[in-house]
Amino acid sequence: MHCPFCRHADSRVIDSRTAEDGMSIRRRRQCPSCGRRFTTLETSSLTVVKRSGATEAFSRDKVVAGVRKACQGRPVSDDDLALLAQQVEEAVRASGSAQIDAHEIGLAILGPLRDLDEVAYLRFASVYSSFASLEDFEAAIGALRAGHDGAGTDDHLPTSDTAAGAADGAGRTAADGGPEDQAGRSGVR
Ligand SMILES: [Zn+2]
Repeated sequence: MHCPFCRHADSRVIDSRTAEDGMSIRRRRQCPSCGRRFTTLETSSLTVVKRSGATEAFSRDKVVAGVRKACQGRPVSDDDLALLAQQVEEAVRASGSAQIDAHEIGLAILGPLRDLDEVAYLRFASVYSSFASLEDFEAAIGALRAGHDGAGTDDHLPTSDTAAGAADGAGRTAADGGPEDQAGRSGVR
């Protein structure tokens, strides 16, 4: 790119590093003409297709702006919102597509927002999913409640499956193993 100081048509890269968030590359450049240094930030383009069909570049600021309304009066800090927007960007970039529907961004917001603040989540979901009735709220709240109750169950079931599998494995190992394992085995029986 052109030197921002003297407009020289070329520049030399003197350092490249991945930005902290892993989403972009910072290049330190030097102009061979005037010798001044400048930094460029390289990001893969991510295009959002709006409902109208118009496209625009993905913007974390827009994610934050959209979520901030839902967070009014809630204990959610700017840092929380910045982190959420980063999570959303990571999620949509992880899809591997350079072009995404605005709808998918809304979807990607729901998960992290639910973890952040359930009231803000309900507000956002009610607008995003066009809740039309109390029943819609009840269903969403029911799902949140199930998440609370189910969190244990959901985490527990696979865990106990794994544990059972591990125990089976251990049992088999024990059968092949030394006297201590044999003792443990008979203890169980
Ligand atoms: Zn220059």
